[in-house]
Amino acid sequence: MTQHLDPRSPWVISTHDLGKRPGTMRRVTLTLPAPADLGVDMIGVPKDAEVELDLRFEAVMEGVLVSGTAQAPLAGECARCLDPLTSEIAVDLQELFFYSDEDASEDDSLLDGALLDLEPTFRDAVVLALPLSPVCRDDCTGLCVECGVKLAEAGDDHRHEKIDARWASLQGLVTENDNDQEK
Ligand SMILES: [Zn+2]
Ligand SMILES: [Zn+2]
Repeated sequence: MTQHLDPRSPWVISTHDLGKRPGTMRRVTLTLPAPADLGVDMIGVPKDAEVELDLRFEAVMEGVLVSGTAQAPLAGECARCLDPLTSEIAVDLQELFFYSDEDASEDDSLLDGALLDLEPTFRDAVVLALPLSPVCRDDCTGLCVECGVKLAEAGDDHRHEKIDARWASLQGLVTENDNDQEK
């Protein structure tokens, strides 16, 4: 299925200069604005953040092989303490863009004339590489499950009566079971 690409989109790149000659290669470094909605629940690449790309475009028999790396800033929140956090992500990109859908299978990427769209490749690579539970620090102690206070600030002796009450009710259950057995 050939989809028509918008040449004004920053992620749509022309491979015209490769001239469909296998073996022709071009190395490109680019800075592109991150697309919108690139992330998972806790973390993602902010829209329009600068994505640094270091790419190699190589004409092969069936199409254009793009490989290289992309680096982008990340923003999100700590999965344990919910503090905002920023970080960076670096991903490897590799995609063969086919000249014709005769050579390609359904999931493969196609060129639209000399144009290719790198955004889906970048998007897929980032989503796969994002941490599912980002943390502000490896040893972040998170929030108190009872009151939500940040444990790192509350101190080691932070505790609640409720926790004692819960233990007490557990002990109550044990005692009741013991009584049942005696009957
Ligand atoms: Zn944290
Ligand atoms: Zn608490």
